[in-house]
Amino acid sequence: MRERRSSQDLGPERYALLSRAALNQSETELSKRTEELERLTERLLARERELVKANEELKELDRIKSEFVAVAAHQLRTPLTGIRWSFQALHDLSMGPLDHEQRKVVDDGLRVTLRAVQLVTNLLNVARIEGGRFGFSFRHQLFVPILDALIPRVKEQAEKKGISVSWTMPHTPPEFVFDADSIALVLDNVFDNAVKYTPPGGKVHFTIGEQGDSVLIVITDTGIGIPRTEEQSVFTKFFRASNALLFQTFGTGLGLYMAKNVILRHSGSISIETKEGSGTKVTIKLPREGPSRREGV
Ligand code: ADP
Repeated sequence: MRERRSSQDLGPERYALLSRAALNQSETELSKRTEELERLTERLLARERELVKANEELKELDRIKSEFVAVAAHQLRTPLTGIRWSFQALHDLSMGPLDHEQRKVVDDGLRVTLRAVQLVTNLLNVARIEGGRFGFSFRHQLFVPILDALIPRVKEQAEKKGISVSWTMPHTPPEFVFDADSIALVLDNVFDNAVKYTPPGGKVHFTIGEQGDSVLIVITDTGIGIPRTEEQSVFTKFFRASNALLFQTFGTGLGLYMAKNVILRHSGSISIETKEGSGTKVTIKLPREGPSRREGV
């Protein structure tokens, strides 16, 4: 332990001399530490500037990538649409009757082309949403027109597979703030999944209801569900569950990723409850007043 000395032990002059020397030493040490700290702060600031720059570069690369995907998808869509209509014309027999073999080739061609059109359309929509170019238009409006356009298509698809579709609607037609085009896309994807991943004989049910200041849309099916270990990845880009790959070979893995982005843009939420082999329930919650200011209108 350091010995403490007082002015009585040393005499006042010597004590003052020693104290000044100790003070000088402390001052030198302090200024050394301050310099070290300044150097460290400067290095930290430089590192922060580097990180900000790297982050900006990454954002720019991401923007360029989204733009590239958008341009590529856009360029592919026109020729694909042409091919689709050619197959459709042959399929509808507008160019004359087809024999058995020709019919098979035309049907396969039409099916594959429709998938390619769907993939390209999904890529285009995702790139638009990611690039902030989707052009959301939030308006206070009735929800019924969305369902009117959707239900006949879903029912037709479901009936072809022997799946029954039922729904529960509130007495008063729901009316709230949303962007019609993107919400139609979301529901199209969620209903499409419900029918696609449900085996013949199954059921799809949807309910529109209210919860406080929000509108609730719940879509349930009795389909294949998602394995528990894969559930947490369901909203990530290009995710396809292992059982879905075996059950239904076609899918882009973009539908739910896009749905999540659209719903978040509405300041809402989308969640999934599922059990492999039993079914899936998708719950969408949308605030009646539309997106909060932070999301921007
Ligand atoms: P996909 O085009 O593959 O259907 P989505 O993004 O819409 O892409 O869905 C991602 C994956 O989540 C699907 O490939 C499937 O594994 C799983 N999935 C989504 N909805 C359902 C559902 N209703 N039932 C079972 N699995 C589902």
